Amino acid sequence: MAEKENDHKKLEVQYRITAEECVARARAELKSGKDERLRYAALELRMALEALTYYRALIHRNEIPPEAYSAWQPRKVIEMLKEHMGEEVDQPYSLTIRETGGELVFTGTDRPISLKEIKDNYDALGSYLHLQSLKQAIKKPLNLANVRQRCEKVLKIVVEAMESNVTSSFGLVARQECARSNCSNVIVRRIPRSAPQVTAKCFLCNAGYTIHREGDMFRWEPWVWTYTCPHCGEVGSLWTCDIKFGKKWVCHSCSRRFDFVLSYRDLEEAGSKKDLKSTPIREKFM
Ligand SMILES: [Zn+2]
Ligand SMILES: [Zn+2]
Repeated sequence: MAEKENDHKKLEVQYRITAEECVARARAELKSGKDERLRYAALELRMALEALTYYRALIHRNEIPPEAYSAWQPRKVIEMLKEHMGEEVDQPYSLTIRETGGELVFTGTDRPISLKEIKDNYDALGSYLHLQSLKQAIKKPLNLANVRQRCEKVLKIVVEAMESNVTSSFGLVARQECARSNCSNVIVRRIPRSAPQVTAKCFLCNAGYTIHREGDMFRWEPWVWTYTCPHCGEVGSLWTCDIKFGKKWVCHSCSRRFDFVLSYRDLEEAGSKKDLKSTPIREKFM
């Protein structure tokens, strides 16, 4: 785990360096004043947008599922961050720390690249990397002054984002160590302001939870199925993520083994919901 964390930290640094290098090259291309160099500026700025967006996802790695790493387009990455962390995740904010009744200790800003900025510019920059189609060239020939203007605009956005000196995000966050045995992962889940409850998943072992907001506190309700052994009457519980095809469970008291059986009604056979009662229930061993 510690090794993986180190890899992530190295990658964080690498994305920042990549963004800075792209910006330096884009600046040089724009400064040359040559129209034929604009496409290279566009390419560098596009990559800077990518680097800063992946960097942003990486610094919030505890709050997003690992499968989200396969999202490669910046738009998809920001949409995924919004889904898991709330709509405000791409909005700028400032942070001031003042000693109580005393001096200003720290002031900082965080200025993420927003979803709107990506939507407005990422594909447009990409379109400069190809020749226009015949239809485009006849209908609306490329205006190089507009290309330069867009590149300058995106350069400003990227530079502002790189000047952020606060890289955490603030909000209501629930944290708890996973309660499943042999898993000590700390689950971090952002709670939207208006939500009375949200669901959360341990990214390490898949255990699920519903987090209920109760005043200033959070109550974590684990997704477990409570059962009573039909043989010895022992009451036990199983995490729902353990109920899978082909798996068995063993009563801890009498050691009897049980299979999971999925029962369902065939709606096509039933014809309509009204006929459900007369529909045979088929059992399938999982
Ligand atoms: Zn876990
Ligand atoms: Zn039993």
